[in-house]
Amino acid sequence: MKLKVTCRNCREEFDLKKTYLTRPEMIDDLGEYFSYPCSHCATTSEYHVNDATAYSGGIASVVGIIAGILIMIISTLLFLSIGYISTIGYVIGLLIINASRGRSNTSNIRIFNSYKITRNPKT
Ligand SMILES: [Zn+2]
Repeated sequence: MKLKVTCRNCREEFDLKKTYLTRPEMIDDLGEYFSYPCSHCATTSEYHVNDATAYSGGIASVVGIIAGILIMIISTLLFLSIGYISTIGYVIGLLIINASRGRSNTSNIRIFNSYKITRNPKT
């Protein structure tokens, strides 16, 4: 999961360097209003935590998929050398791939995007 905001200057979306699971967690670190430089036009603008949108960044799922494939390959080699069919390795590999995709894609993103904080006037 990654967080993105739309630049106030060039209207391009860019990623925040850090990821937070919830908006309150984000406020604890950045504050309710935070200044952030755009990665496209380098203009630093001020944003509200509600401006951030969570989306599937793909890093977690890529790691999971690689781990799953590695387990498939290793178990295939392992089982081949002792003469067994490597079905178990494939099943475990697929389970890991599915688990990592599910975790990074659905619930956390939905929770983050549906939970907006009450916007306080800037102090
Ligand atoms: Zn920009």
